[in-house]
Formats: sequence, structure tokens, C-alpha cells
Amino acid sequence: MTRYRKELAALSSQLSEDEFSITLLTSLPDSWDSFIQGVDTASLSDSTKLISRVLEQARRKVAKPSSDDIALAANRFKSKGSKPSSTATCHGCGRPGHFISDCHDTAAGKTYTEQQKKENY
Ligand SMILES: [Zn+2]
Repeated sequence: MTRYRKELAALSSQLSEDEFSITLLTSLPDSWDSFIQGVDTASLSDSTKLISRVLEQARRKVAKPSSDDIALAANRFKSKGSKPSSTATCHGCGRPGHFISDCHDTAAGKTYTEQQKKENY
């Protein structure tokens, strides 16, 4: 990683901030696609910031060898009609994280007003 950092520093001194940022992003492997898509254009003009983001991401990738699984999950999330349960809001009690079909309160026969659902959330 130290070698990587030095290479980046050497590259960045030869190119303009924008050129360097584009070069850096386009040189990353395919598995970085989702990271690249998440980079805001503002950080392209600040290569120091971009480098730190890339290094941070690289460290996370090392720490989590299952990053491919996360990418798979992200793709599944993007595909039509599928909603992750973590962002679902229950229509029975208004609490996030489960569907009405999994709702303990609804199963117990409790009902909530719209106002109470908002408070539960
Ligand atoms: Zn519920």
C-alpha cells in the first residue's frame, strides 16, 4: 500500500488534478465500478481527497474479502421489484425493518392510527 501511495503521488505531480483523477479511476479494476460510480465529480478536482477515498476503499476491500458478495447484493437491490427488508416500513405499526406480514403487533391484533405509525417510525 505504501508503494501504491508513492506511485499515486508521482503520477499526480505529472498531471493536472482532473487528469490525474480520471487516470486513477479508469485504472482501477472492474470490481471498483460501484465505488467509481459513487465518486462525486467535485472530488475529481481535488486529487488528494480522491486518493484518500481510494486508499480508504482499498483498505475496506482488504478487510472485507466478501466485497463481491456485497456487489452481488447491490445488484440484486438494483433489480426491479426487490426491496431490502431493512428499508421496508410496516403498514401495520409504522415501524421500519419489517413488513406487515412479519408484524408482531398486527399478529397480536393491535392497530395504529396514522399519527401513531409516524411516532413509531
Ligand atoms: Zn409492524
